[in-house]
Amino acid sequence: MADLDYSKLHPDTLAVRAGTERTHFGEHSDAMFLTSSFVVGSAEEAMLKFTGQVPGFIYSRFTNPTVSAFEERLAAMEGAERAVATASGMSAIMSLCLAHLRAGDHIVASSVLFGSTMQFFNNYMAKFGVEVTYASPVDLAEWHAAIKPNTKLFFLETPSNPLIDVADIRAIADIAHGAGAILAVDNCFCSPALQQPLKHGADIVVHSATKYIDGQGRVLGGAVVGSNALIEPVYLFLRTAGPTLSPFNAWVLLKGLETLGIRMKAHSENAMQLATWLEAHPKVAKVYYSGLQSHPQHALAERQQSGHGGVVSFDVKGGKDVAWRVIDRVQLMSRTANLGDVRTTISHPATTSHGRLTQEARNRAGIGDGLIRISVGLEHVGDLIADLERGFAD
Ligand SMILES: *Cc1c(COP(=O)(O)O)cnc(C)c1O
Repeated sequence: MADLDYSKLHPDTLAVRAGTERTHFGEHSDAMFLTSSFVVGSAEEAMLKFTGQVPGFIYSRFTNPTVSAFEERLAAMEGAERAVATASGMSAIMSLCLAHLRAGDHIVASSVLFGSTMQFFNNYMAKFGVEVTYASPVDLAEWHAAIKPNTKLFFLETPSNPLIDVADIRAIADIAHGAGAILAVDNCFCSPALQQPLKHGADIVVHSATKYIDGQGRVLGGAVVGSNALIEPVYLFLRTAGPTLSPFNAWVLLKGLETLGIRMKAHSENAMQLATWLEAHPKVAKVYYSGLQSHPQHALAERQQSGHGGVVSFDVKGGKDVAWRVIDRVQLMSRTANLGDVRTTISHPATTSHGRLTQEARNRAGIGDGLIRISVGLEHVGDLIADLERGFAD
């Protein structure tokens, strides 16, 4: 009988089946290999493994069976040839940049990025002679205009945080390729359960697995995903420099992937109900959620994603004082800037995640003083609505 063709399976199936390699015990679940190194049977075998002439495990900074199971499963779900796992989302972004860029290169990046990503580009890549120009995720002309002869990398996050701008991956990939650059997409908000950027023309996907892939607030992790040719240099950087994923965290993330599809569906359903309720609320000025008809990129999100995810933002009427009062009065939601958890979180971007920007930069980014971001969890939506009612009460 021919082997089952995994490339034909749905990501939900791959999430529970891909990457599993049983030991001689025949364990049904994935084993966890907490070992830093591996022994060989002979001097010759050691030589063959070290030179890469035969595959096999040597040392867990290079790779480890539990880590490689996670890498295989994630790559399968993204429809990619290969993934390498990293210690965190930020180490995925750092490894991608240090493996693929050199002094004198130029990045075109979305102007709405995770704060640490922007700090990494501005404070560290700049120090090593790599320049960055920012372009609006929803204005293709800005991406065209930002291109320089030395542009090597386009970097994009979609949907964006906290305003849920949806960027057109295919259109931006075409602009990147026209300039001889590659496009990397941070797929943290949707996860592979809702969006597979490689299928829309992106070359590389980066993940913070800390968010939805774990989804239960337990571990940090990340990954860089793409073709063998683009991932091999990232792997060589990681095995040399060392920001690799621990086998324990890889095991937790393997379990996370198994429920990712149903969790993302449930997050999206709860978020849609909450967004609809908020949009009708007299104390709310505006709701940002791509599932709503009122969202400017609703149609694009419907095409590009198979769900709208769990993050909803909204402006309250009355600015910061009202926003802070809502946040202080909720009793169920967690007051924390983290996102992608089974527990709902609530935050005030202007004074937390985006507090270091100047008022002017925040205004330009559309992050007002009345903006509240909610990462909608898996509690019953009726209880979440009642919690916000408490927040809004006079
Ligand atoms: C959290 C986050 C990161 C960084 O991930 P860590 O695992 O915290 O290092 C990168 N991108 C986005 C969009 C994130 O939300």
